[in-house]
Amino acid sequence: MGCLFCNILERKVPATVVYEDDHALAFRDIRPVAPTHVLVIPKKHVAAIHDLEPAHAETMGNLLIAARRVADQEGLTKDGYRLVINDGDAAGQTVHHIHVHVLGGRQMTWPPG
Ligand code: 5GP
Ligand code: ZN
Repeated sequence: MGCLFCNILERKVPATVVYEDDHALAFRDIRPVAPTHVLVIPKKHVAAIHDLEPAHAETMGNLLIAARRVADQEGLTKDGYRLVINDGDAAGQTVHHIHVHVLGGRQMTWPPG
C-alpha cells in the first residue's frame, strides 16, 4: 500500500520521468488526456491542497517553477498550456499526493469538465 506517488519517487513503481530537481519530480501520466500530459509532484509528501499551511509555501513555489520548466522542456510555452490541481472528490482527485497536471499540445476548452 502506501502512497503511489511516493512509491514513484522512490522508484518502487516505474514511471516515465521527464524532469527532476531537488524539490520535484515530473513523469508522464499513465492515461494522458492531451498530447502532452505530465504530472509534477513535490518530493515532500503533502496529500492535498486543502492540507496546505504557510510552512508549505516554499514547496508549492518550487512545484510551480518545476511545472513551468517541464512546460518549457516539452515545447508548450509558445502556444500555451494548462496547469491543473484537483482537490478532493468533487474535483476528481484520485491520488492523495499533491500533483500539478501539465496539459498541452491541443486547444483547451473553458469551462473545464
Ligand atoms: P488526479 O485525478 O488525482 O488529479 O490525477 C491522478 C492522475 O494520476 C491521473 O491522471 C491518472 O491517470 C494518473 N495515474 C494514476 N496512476 C498512475 C500511475 O501508476 N502512473 C502514472 N504515471 N500515472 C498514474
Ligand atoms: Zn506521497
